[in-house]
Amino acid sequence: MSVPSAALEQLMSRISDRAEDAARLTRDLIRFPTINPPGEDYGACAEFIGDRLKARGFEVSYHRALGAPGDTDRYPRINVMARRDSGKPGPCVHFNSHIDVVAPGQGWTLDPFEGVIRDGRVYGRGACDMKGGLASSIIAVEALLDSGLDLPGAIEISGTVDEESGGYGGVAWLAERGFFSPPRVDHVIIPEPLNVDRVCIGHRGVWWAEIETRGRMAHGSMPFLGDSAIRHMGAVMERFERDLYPALAARHSDMPVVPEEARQSCLNINSVHGGEGEQFEGLPSPLVADRCRMVIDRRFLIEEPLDTVKGEVRQILDALTRDRPGFSYGLRDLFQVEPSMADRDGPVASAAARAVRRVLGREARFVCSPGTYDQKHVDRIGKLKDCIAYGPGVLELAHQPDEWVGVDDMVDAAKVMALATITLLTPGG
Ligand SMILES: [Zn+2]
Repeated sequence: MSVPSAALEQLMSRISDRAEDAARLTRDLIRFPTINPPGEDYGACAEFIGDRLKARGFEVSYHRALGAPGDTDRYPRINVMARRDSGKPGPCVHFNSHIDVVAPGQGWTLDPFEGVIRDGRVYGRGACDMKGGLASSIIAVEALLDSGLDLPGAIEISGTVDEESGGYGGVAWLAERGFFSPPRVDHVIIPEPLNVDRVCIGHRGVWWAEIETRGRMAHGSMPFLGDSAIRHMGAVMERFERDLYPALAARHSDMPVVPEEARQSCLNINSVHGGEGEQFEGLPSPLVADRCRMVIDRRFLIEEPLDTVKGEVRQILDALTRDRPGFSYGLRDLFQVEPSMADRDGPVASAAARAVRRVLGREARFVCSPGTYDQKHVDRIGKLKDCIAYGPGVLELAHQPDEWVGVDDMVDAAKVMALATITLLTPGG
């Protein structure tokens, strides 16, 4: 079965006509201040999405991730899952968006939760990451339903929580219960803001760890009687500068990570704490610090096994244990995610790329994200490889003050999503 191109043209103009609806829907979503942490207003936002889709014949269910990190009666982790079955056998295309946003922070020139629509943009926390993307997917699917195209299979739209804090009360929790696995779902599109002409096929890996150096307390006027854990940590940082950073910078990936600078391995020192706490009032007391802790955030490539990533840090610490009198350390894993990369020739990536070419008249660029997102859970827990991120919005605007999404971008993205859905649901695409 193939869809006549007149019908496709009609669908495209139907979506163009919905620009205002897309903007208003994004505004309405922004007005739920779904800040994570702590996980504010999840239930109301989920219900708003569910009500809208229920009216379009979706079967809607709500799933509270009981026992997930952060789930309490005050801040329940509520996810919404909507499914529309055509009644005819066929695959299922799933659009997954996270509804949580990060705190607004400082520097806004307008209300972050009003959803101001101005000059073809919608402003607000989450406009770009990723309520604009969620709105685009809803507009795309609604236009498809209105088009009267007789598509087989099923379409799902989910609004999930906690992506910003790892996704454990959202996609991970649902994936553990089969919501992101075949045969229920075949293709997943996550409308994260990766720019409207880019198809994101995966992300680098992450390893967070805490390094602790140990010393011995003494009076600060006689530091020779003690052993400073902070100086030991300084030695760790020196070795990082001398040995680790140059090695990481030299390691390039075949993964098409964007921006270009992220196409290598990297390490961020997230925090260093040692000695007197930062919260005290008044003058410090003279002490030699007996503990110093550093949290590292290591982003690694698909070419690097996680064991190697951990091993090279441990080697530096072990070398210091041998070379440096009094040096001892602890190393504790905090969090890890393996890199994930879908096949760019797989059904969902190629359907999206074709749709980008048709809608925008230029070739899609395949990219990988510098940070992780919920694809990891679809891949690792759901065991579903055919997953991409594709959505409107400029990646660099995410988490910034005065975050916005362009209405034209949303319309284009909705067209791409609708065309990709047709390709994926139509036998012989
Ligand atoms: Zn996001």
